[in-house]
Amino acid sequence: MASQEIETLTAQLARLPGLGPRSARRAVLWLVKRRETSLAALLDALVALRDRLSECATCGNVDTASPCAICADPRRDSRALCVVEDVADLWALDRARLFPGRYHVLGGRLSALDGIGPGDLAIAPLLARVAAGGIDEVVLAMNATLEGQTTAHYIAERLEGMPVRVTQLAHGLPVGGELDYLDEGTLAQALRARRAIG
Ligand SMILES: [Zn+2]
Repeated sequence: MASQEIETLTAQLARLPGLGPRSARRAVLWLVKRRETSLAALLDALVALRDRLSECATCGNVDTASPCAICADPRRDSRALCVVEDVADLWALDRARLFPGRYHVLGGRLSALDGIGPGDLAIAPLLARVAAGGIDEVVLAMNATLEGQTTAHYIAERLEGMPVRVTQLAHGLPVGGELDYLDEGTLAQALRARRAIG
């Protein structure tokens, strides 16, 4: 029987994406054996996560400052805005500086199945950003899933009549493909070949 402490930590880790109870227990035992070294570094990283990181009030990115480094960077093209589902997608696109403009994180995708409607996503703040002016192009970089594409079309409809070009990533993307898992070459190609949403 494992101690209560190990059970508690295992249960917490098992809730993380990609980890189940088995992997969580293995991770906990690995950490117990390395209390003096790896555990201390992990603790520091977790405390920094809690104390220093927050959501950017403008774009939804996670950073140590709000506005985040991307929103605050004057070298970024403020006239191009790339809309993504999650922060992980923003990071995927920005890892290799594929997109020169700024971002907007929706915080998910429309899903009738999961009961996620427009009010649950940062769509109203997106419309407000575009309505405030100064943006020429909105790139809808949703995942190539049914829900991602439904979300893209919904947003394109809401942007109709506003003086911006609305484009989406080219469909060289594998169906069901999540941006986060794509290599940079594929992402760069999808971005370069972006086209008006139809
Ligand atoms: Zn930001």
